[in-house]
Amino acid sequence: MDVRTSIVWDYAPAPESTDHVRLRDDYGLFIGGEFRAPQDGRHEPTFNPATEEPIAQIAWAGEADLRAAVAAAREAQAAWAALPGRERAKYLFRIARLIQERARELAVVETLDGGKPLRESRDIDIPLAAAHFFHYAGWADKLSYGIGGRACAPMGVVGQIVPWNFPLLMAAWKLAPALACGNTAILKPAETTPLTALLLAEIIQEAELPAGVVAVLPGDGATGAALVRCEGIDKLAFTGSTAVGRDIQSAVAGRGIGLTLELGGKSANIVFEDAALDQAVEGIVNGIFFNQGHVCCAGSRLFVQESVADEVVSKLWDRMGRLRVGDPLDKNTDVGAINSAEQLQRIEALVAAGEEEGAVRRSIACDVPDRGYWFAPTLLTDVSPAHRVAVEEIFGPVVSVLTFRTQAEAIEKANNSRYGLAAGIWTDKGAKAFEVASALQAGVIWQNTYNHFDPTAAFGGYKESGFGREGGPAGLRPYLRVS
Ligand code: NAD
Repeated sequence: MDVRTSIVWDYAPAPESTDHVRLRDDYGLFIGGEFRAPQDGRHEPTFNPATEEPIAQIAWAGEADLRAAVAAAREAQAAWAALPGRERAKYLFRIARLIQERARELAVVETLDGGKPLRESRDIDIPLAAAHFFHYAGWADKLSYGIGGRACAPMGVVGQIVPWNFPLLMAAWKLAPALACGNTAILKPAETTPLTALLLAEIIQEAELPAGVVAVLPGDGATGAALVRCEGIDKLAFTGSTAVGRDIQSAVAGRGIGLTLELGGKSANIVFEDAALDQAVEGIVNGIFFNQGHVCCAGSRLFVQESVADEVVSKLWDRMGRLRVGDPLDKNTDVGAINSAEQLQRIEALVAAGEEEGAVRRSIACDVPDRGYWFAPTLLTDVSPAHRVAVEEIFGPVVSVLTFRTQAEAIEKANNSRYGLAAGIWTDKGAKAFEVASALQAGVIWQNTYNHFDPTAAFGGYKESGFGREGGPAGLRPYLRVS
């Protein structure tokens, strides 16, 4: 008789200290190499979503500030582009090194401002942000090799708008290739997470980048819309929702402006019966609960082969019960706070719609603080492909489970989406993985892993997930005029 008792793991609190973080009470706009007050004097607080407490006052840019930043960027551009590539590279290397030096502080601030677990900001966001600057520093003197040996020139002044889910990392994805290619850049961080972009502006100052090469202009959608419409921009790069991407595409039509759009997703994570199921379950958890599911390429549509569906769902539910939800600054936390009250409402509304349409909901039991924005990791079964929870991006810790019988059915169902950002394939058959990957309409496809990012690899979408690629040599192309 088996008399073993199960081990109940518990953890003592392990909060990361915030003593080393030196935030100012208020931040200006970073224009022309210095922090300035906004011309209309507007400041808004940025909040910690885990406590709902304000952290700092942030200047929001208006149209006059945007014009000043574009003028400074235009003035700086020719000299920046005229530097030999290896000289521009030195600045990028310096930025990368300074990010590494301030990594602990940046990780804590990312977690305070955005709600993501410290474990992720410390081990993923910040190291990858530094890695992007290192990677593109290496390309700065080899640009034509990166684009097939053709002659090239920078686009000029680029406008870059980023979302709140990976604030510093998205800033690095945008700035590093733009600067390596000889462009000057105006970065607009998201309204709920401006802090690490402003710390990056401090780093850029410390790295002694020439004034005007980078501007950081916080603000909301109105600031973003004004940047899109500002005279003097040669190229726009946007990461965010498909709805805003559409608005931007129509606003730039006919203006001869380069555009890349990294938009939403509803990515398929496909588990075949021959997969190593325990590993697949880890991959499913990483695919959807990483960063509270605020991930454009999250594996939010889980397709499981019917023969193993009950087993996978049971293992997944068991594993979900071990996720630790709570204080994002605690080093043991797996799932932190939802980024904002609005995002929490969106998640709640979509999950409620799923239940109304017949999905069966299971959310894990967890004690969360009284204040802050929280959503328990949730599993939806009995989902049909037409349900809203199988079609629309939830952008939260919610996985919708669907099943399939054959490989052909898996491919057809996975491609039955208006999005095409990423996919995961779990199988122990290499040939099957290649066959399925070739048939999937998705920009990034992982085999027996999920949510792995690397600066050398291109990232981007098909269909309503956008166009253009970021990362690797492919990420140079949108920032160059190629002749
Ligand atoms: P959002 O589109 O509302 O905002 C993104 C950014 O655009 C913010 O800085 C915001 O202030 C700005 N903005 C808002 N309205 C604007 C307008 N009319 N014109 C110009 N700028 C405007 O999206 P979000 O809610 O912040 O982010 C979540 C979305 O981003 C999700 O759909 C997610 O899939 C997507 N996303 C995609 C990727 C990718 O690489 N494909 C990466 C991260 C997030």
